Parts: sequence; C-alpha cells; structure tokens
Amino acid sequence: MPYKSSVPLFWRLKDAKYSLVGTKCITCNQVFFPPADFCPQCRRKGKIEKFQFSGNGEVVSYTVIRVAPEGFEKYVPYVVAIIQLDEGTRISGQIIGDINKVEIEKRVKSVFRRITEDNDQGLIHYGIKFEIVD
Ligand SMILES: [Zn+2]
Repeated sequence: MPYKSSVPLFWRLKDAKYSLVGTKCITCNQVFFPPADFCPQCRRKGKIEKFQFSGNGEVVSYTVIRVAPEGFEKYVPYVVAIIQLDEGTRISGQIIGDINKVEIEKRVKSVFRRITEDNDQGLIHYGIKFEIVD
C-alpha cells in the first residue's frame, strides 16, 4: 500500500508559521517540528497526528549575529539559538530582548513577532521567535 499523508498541506504551512504546531507519531511518541508526515523510526507503522507544542524550552546553544543577511540589518546584534522544546525536539530560532541575558540552559518561551518587512512590496512577515523567561 503506498504511503498516504494524513496531514493536509494547508494547515501544515499555515500553523507551523504562526504557532508551534508540529506532528507526533503516536506509535513511538516522537514529535516533529517542522511537521513531518512520516516517522523515520516506525515507517509505515507510524501514525502521525497534529501536535501543538507549548513553546516552552531551554537554550542548548546560541550565537550572536553581528553581520546580518539582507533584510535583517536593523536587528543586529541579535541571538539565534538552538532550543530544546520541553516536548522533545530541537528547533532553531531568534531570541528577542537583551542579548546579554541569553545563556545556555536558560528557559525560553515562544512569542509571535514580526520577522521581516519587505519595504518594496509592503509585505510584513510574522512568525515564531523566543524570549528569555526570567
Ligand atoms: Zn514513530
């Protein structure tokens, strides 16, 4: 039987961008972000469901960006970190706020913020960022 995705593309793209919605394999409990519709461990035995992450986690490693890519120049310096989510997967993301407060093992939570602004077309892109929980 050919593999058939149980995860419609529509919410995958939309929800993953605006909130931390990923997927979970309820066969082995592995979670995925960005959402995966296939569990590499269970393969065809895996059953994938939509999964809402809390957005809470911990800083695993981070780097301070001082030379930004085009469109991000006004944000420098800023921190991009690898975050271990409480539910069990790692994602990378920007940490907003005072860069001096960012440390390994600091607790973070996700927030919804402007990512970039395209001045030529007036487009503003929003998405998930993180902030330090004091
Ligand atoms: Zn699995």
